[in-house]
Amino acid sequence: MKEQLEKLREATIELISGLSDEKALNDARTRILGRKGQLTGFLRGLKDLDPEERARMGQLANQIKIDLEQSFDRMETAIRERMEEQRLAAEFVDVTLPGRRSPIGRSHILHRVTDELIDVFAGLGFQLAEGPEVELDYYNFEALNIPRDHPARDMQDTFYFSDNVVLRTHTSPVQIRTMEKQQPPVRVICPGKVYRRDADITHSPMFMQIEGLWVDRGISFADLKGVLTAFVQEYFGKDVGLRFRPSFFPFTEPSAEVDIRCVICGGEGCRTCSQTGWLEILGSGMVDPVLYGFVNYDPSVYTGFAFGMGIERVAMLKYRIPDIRAFYENDVRFLNQF
Ligand SMILES: [Zn+2]
Repeated sequence: MKEQLEKLREATIELISGLSDEKALNDARTRILGRKGQLTGFLRGLKDLDPEERARMGQLANQIKIDLEQSFDRMETAIRERMEEQRLAAEFVDVTLPGRRSPIGRSHILHRVTDELIDVFAGLGFQLAEGPEVELDYYNFEALNIPRDHPARDMQDTFYFSDNVVLRTHTSPVQIRTMEKQQPPVRVICPGKVYRRDADITHSPMFMQIEGLWVDRGISFADLKGVLTAFVQEYFGKDVGLRFRPSFFPFTEPSAEVDIRCVICGGEGCRTCSQTGWLEILGSGMVDPVLYGFVNYDPSVYTGFAFGMGIERVAMLKYRIPDIRAFYENDVRFLNQF
């Protein structure tokens, strides 16, 4: 029995010295010293020996148990230290390597164009005004001279929350909200998102507009032409020609659409301008005096003009972007170009 014990000690020590990972070591420890382990088996067998032998063997077995436990512990420490060294070696930081740049965010192209437009109009004395995107039917339609059941409502396919609450279909309600709050002079520029139930190659259900309004004593159509001409020349270039075409909007009278000379072909005719040499850029007109009734302005004293344009369209022409959908696809390759 003594021999068996000594053999077990030797074999175990040899086994331990050949192990190199923690799991194998733990398995071996269980196999030898565990509740059903080999050495534990020996200790159980002691009860069959006579008392003298039992005492001697018991002492020896316990000593071997202590020795082996120490061997296991030493090896465990050694393996852990080695693993820690390997981990540190793997995590070595080479401070001489060039750094990796984090990608830097930037303004979306539509926001940049919006800021550019605000800058141009700020230079012409316009102040920024904003309004809610969830709007009352009253501000979005009625106070803009578009009564219920009026055919002009068909021009704007609308998202309704209820009979009286809509997603604004244009930035024009900001005109009414601004005039309600202050007496003339009013000279504001109102950019923002607008919504229509429209989605195809050239329409997005959400898009952006910028709207201008100037009301004061003695404002005439000449002022409208002057401001919009100054805008076109400042934003698209001194040589870009423009023309005013009669048009219709429910909230302006008379109304005019403004075309600029095609910035792609210079007026020769190309696909972008449908061979006409002109590009439609904005709608405008003298504020219909009916609107002044809604905001308590005296129409015999004050006159004014308003204009509005799609920011996507301006951005497409300014930066030669062929497809309106590119603005909303969030393709970083596209966005990074600006
Ligand atoms: Zn053209």
